[in-house]
Amino acid sequence: MSKHEVIIIGGGPGGLTAGLYTSRAGLKSLLIERGIFGGQIVNASQIDNYPGFPEGISGFDMASLMNEQATKYGLETMTAEVTDIRHGHAYNIISPEGNFEAESVIIAAGSEYRKLGVMGEEKLLGRGVSYCATCDGFLFKDMDVAVVGGGDTAITDALELGQHAGKVYIIHRRDQLRAGHVLQQRALEHPKLKPIWDTVVDEVTGDNKVSGLKLRNVKTGETSNLKVAGVFVAIGIIPNSKYFADIVELDETGHIKTNELMETSAPGIFAVGDIRKNSPRQVASAVGDGATAALSAFKYLRERS
Ligand code: NAP
Repeated sequence: MSKHEVIIIGGGPGGLTAGLYTSRAGLKSLLIERGIFGGQIVNASQIDNYPGFPEGISGFDMASLMNEQATKYGLETMTAEVTDIRHGHAYNIISPEGNFEAESVIIAAGSEYRKLGVMGEEKLLGRGVSYCATCDGFLFKDMDVAVVGGGDTAITDALELGQHAGKVYIIHRRDQLRAGHVLQQRALEHPKLKPIWDTVVDEVTGDNKVSGLKLRNVKTGETSNLKVAGVFVAIGIIPNSKYFADIVELDETGHIKTNELMETSAPGIFAVGDIRKNSPRQVASAVGDGATAALSAFKYLRERS
């Protein structure tokens, strides 16, 4: 079984930053990613809010640059899906592709947006379907768009979109928002925001880009078409934490609990980015978490030796 001082699980901005820092600090480091290096940002057509890129940068390019920089200093990487972490003398990282031993672990496995699961959603992803108003909202200047969901994220997104877009429809499956009172009040008083109550999306329509939504009122069964250029799906987040529930403490939504040093409930295991509790879910914050966790791992290993 190969042994590393640090194993990082997940190759998004948080994991790649952690790997950059641990490998530059001279720690024998391995980053294991199950899918695409770069994680969710690979789907972002343009990232305008990451410092240092005043003209913006595509998510794909940012991911490539982060990967190049992290591996330049000796970070090993491999593709595998980690399905368990077991505590022995060190930590055993289990995957169908093989098992690995690590003295410390940084979990950067991210989260997934909950999907509507309707026709057109996947096909038109990045072509009008988005899960991130902060990333893509500016693309819809003066155009009519819809937000699906009634929680804090949906309403925050709708208010943010109200700054760029034309009309912003809020499509919610009930007749009452879940979002906090102040957000609700701001949304309901906003001249551009139009709630559509008791309604679900049955299909996202459009050939090469979103042209509209097929809607259904869940109380009356009545169907209708809504013309929009974009749809922002904000119906919750699923952290990729199911394999780690036995080794670190999670909160009630499945996010890993950490302190400000990114330490989890298990000594030597750290968590960063979207998978941790209270993450702002931004590239910039994930990068900060990654640096913090790497420095904490370095300190942990030094104090142990
Ligand atoms: P959330 O609170 O779980 O809300 C999800 C929303 O999507 C709910 O309105 C839910 O409807 C709806 N929904 C779920 N599945 C659906 C489906 N299949 N089809 C249609 N609608 C569906 O998620 P969130 O808004 O992402 O918030 C997550 C956490 O982050 C919360 O704790 C929230 O307070 C926090 N947060 C806070 C802020 C802030 O500014 N304070 C901003 C963002 C997030 P129902 O209401 O009918 O269940």
